[in-house]
Amino acid sequence: MNIFIINSGSSSIKYQLFKMPSTAPVCSGLVERIGSDDVALTHKVTANGEEIKRVFKLGKADHEAGLNKVNELLTDPEFGVIQDRRDIQAVGHRVVHGGERFWEPTRITGEVKQALKKLFLLAPLHNPAGYTGIEVAEKIFPDAVQIAVFDTAFHHTLPPKAFRFAIPDQYYTGNNIRVYGFHGTSHGFIAGQAAAYLERDDLKLISIHLGNGCSITAIDKGRSVDTSMGFGPLSGLIMGTRSGDIDPTVIFYMIDQLGYTPEQVNDLLNKNSGMLGLAGSNDMRDIRKAMAEGDANAKLAYEMYAYRIKKYIGAYAAALNGVDVVAFTAGVGENDVFVRKMVCEDMEYLGISFDANKNSTRSDGIREISTDDSRVKVLIIPTNEELEIANQCYGLLYK
Ligand code: AMP
Repeated sequence: MNIFIINSGSSSIKYQLFKMPSTAPVCSGLVERIGSDDVALTHKVTANGEEIKRVFKLGKADHEAGLNKVNELLTDPEFGVIQDRRDIQAVGHRVVHGGERFWEPTRITGEVKQALKKLFLLAPLHNPAGYTGIEVAEKIFPDAVQIAVFDTAFHHTLPPKAFRFAIPDQYYTGNNIRVYGFHGTSHGFIAGQAAAYLERDDLKLISIHLGNGCSITAIDKGRSVDTSMGFGPLSGLIMGTRSGDIDPTVIFYMIDQLGYTPEQVNDLLNKNSGMLGLAGSNDMRDIRKAMAEGDANAKLAYEMYAYRIKKYIGAYAAALNGVDVVAFTAGVGENDVFVRKMVCEDMEYLGISFDANKNSTRSDGIREISTDDSRVKVLIIPTNEELEIANQCYGLLYK
């Protein structure tokens, strides 16, 4: 079965094609800078163990033009991977927010689309882009089953004591204001990978997703029991451009005393805070370089970033009544030697014994960076949200 996965963002589309049940993508790619005059498409095909990579300049292109080009490449005479676009039986879409209704992979119907539109209110920065991806895919692959997989879904197991806010009941029952949690596709994938790698399904796991957005989740026997992002994806860890946890009094102070509008504060906390606000860049590679050159702001930003993660590990070890595994994933988690070191050092009281040599040795796949006798295993697990979405779509169609 050919399942095409689309992860549509406001200015980018990531995609992968799987011939399920095989878990190796037959092709994958990225359309970047959508909305500019300089849209680029990077397309990769793996055939007979070899990877062919091509970059195409698309000029000015929207989501539809970008996906149309991808569609052409799928059947391209030179490096096409299917005969006809009707060979795509299902298209899986990443949708960030499923609200209180969507806790499972869901076939997209007209009624589901109406419900998805209502969710724009809950995730105005993310859900419209996912919706655009759905509308475009329906045009390009009209014969395929369209399926939405929600980033919030993995957190449907949170207990009320973790997902409720301490505000009057009516705001939950009447307005659906609660913790939803995000990055669930990634955290769910990490939970599955850790269980398979250690051959245990009873793990107390702390999964740390550190990409441009960052979140940390406490997972007990494969079920999410607490998570750092909340009603929206702003709370918790310090991120590329988002502040993470902040005392709400600051927001009122900015509005009442500094004269900011709510939109300005929203923009500030989502787009100009986090590592960008602290150190002038949201790319950890730039910040590390600046730190090496003696930049005090960069050093403080790194310390704050790692310290916030450390605090959450402590909290989640308490929530789980112990911890067997701490797993790092995503762009920063998989690549940043410094962050992992700053987080994991001086954690002996928790049973984490960190191996700095293993930490700085690069290799592909899952690897351990704790000492052999560490009570808690520290793992780097590369995430693969597209594969997790493909697996969930396959599971839905074959249930
Ligand atoms: P993601 O959202 O998972 O694609 O992660 C994106 C982030 O990963 C970027 O903003 C960078 O900060 C970070 N990143 C990517 N490669 C590296 C690297 N080699 N070292 C440190 N950080 C990296």
